[in-house]
Amino acid sequence: MTKKTDTVLVTGISGYIAKHVAHGLLQRGYKVRGTVRELAKGEQVTADLAETGVDVFGLSYVEANLQSDTGWEAAVKDCAFIQHLASPLPLRQPEDREALVPEARAGAQRVLSAGFAAGVKRIIMTSSIAAMIGQPGKGAHLKITEDSWTDPDWKKLTAYNVSKTRAEISAWEYAKVQGFEDRLTVINPGLVLGPAIGTSYGTSLGLVEQMFAGEFPRTPKAAFPIVDVRDLADLHIAAMQVKGAAGRRLIAAGETLWFSDIANIAREAYPEQGRKLPKGELPSFVVRIAAKFDNRISAIVADLGTFHEADTQYVTDLTGVSFRPAKQSVLDSCAYLVETGKIE
Ligand code: NAP
Repeated sequence: MTKKTDTVLVTGISGYIAKHVAHGLLQRGYKVRGTVRELAKGEQVTADLAETGVDVFGLSYVEANLQSDTGWEAAVKDCAFIQHLASPLPLRQPEDREALVPEARAGAQRVLSAGFAAGVKRIIMTSSIAAMIGQPGKGAHLKITEDSWTDPDWKKLTAYNVSKTRAEISAWEYAKVQGFEDRLTVINPGLVLGPAIGTSYGTSLGLVEQMFAGEFPRTPKAAFPIVDVRDLADLHIAAMQVKGAAGRRLIAAGETLWFSDIANIAREAYPEQGRKLPKGELPSFVVRIAAKFDNRISAIVADLGTFHEADTQYVTDLTGVSFRPAKQSVLDSCAYLVETGKIE
């Protein structure tokens, strides 16, 4: 159903994951139109992608912001598919838990309505397991499936989790009302690790950098399924190509690691650079107290003590995409950070 000459819109193309998606699309011969908030950002994205050796001839940009209607009609024009990855992903969480909702939810609405109106064949929207794991009383072990949903009214959730959940709920509702459920696929990634393209990267790889920098003397007791950014990009593209992926929520995740596992894997491989890596876990009651003073820590409070596990066999069966071992993604993240001089 896809043609190699198809144009694919990638929203938020300057992002960590989106650059990998754009890379995979260009490699496969698609034309890629990326949205950026300022056109000047496109030059760096082109340079980063060209550095990988991929042919950037089919790459172009439009300016569009999730917070405004301007630019979206031009962005979707003549596109066969949309990969919608742009979303606010702040390192520091706003105090107001609904603060990011307008940007994420109304932004997704803009992309969906412009895309469906322009007749795109399918929209792939990147949600998160944040829209699945926010379940009050979840206990020590939570297995998530395609049917798992976060309760967006749970008071412990961060603004980011609330925004991802409300944006996904409203995207499905909108698609249903419009009769376009079979033209929407949602991808719910776990914690994304692996090398970035270029020298800028998002929040998740930044966590590994912060661990090396000694910003967390000990880790919180929290465990999330990990997905490698390269496998995640393959899944975004497969979701466009595989007929049966329409109307589905695809969890993108492999093995689950505790934060302490991540620190230990990094230390073993990089003993010299890893002197400040966290050693041992903080008791959860201490994390809860610390969260009152540091809102980066408050992001983890709802998930303390739970081993979150994802059932993704159905995703591999459906799309053929499998997920590499989490340890490999941690090691490749560290190698990237060392090679680019982010950690010394
Ligand atoms: P990232 O590197 O921070 O990229 C986010 C992108 O969104 C950037 O291109 C950013 O543009 C763009 N953006 C933010 N606000 C925008 C707005 N108001 N209008 C237009 N563009 C805007 O994040 P990422 O890690 O690649 O994440 C990409 C997607 O995956 C997001 O939807 C995120 O929620 C989801 N996700 C990520 C993870 C993870 O562990 N990284 C896990 C689950 C889900 P600028 O360059 O202009 O800032």
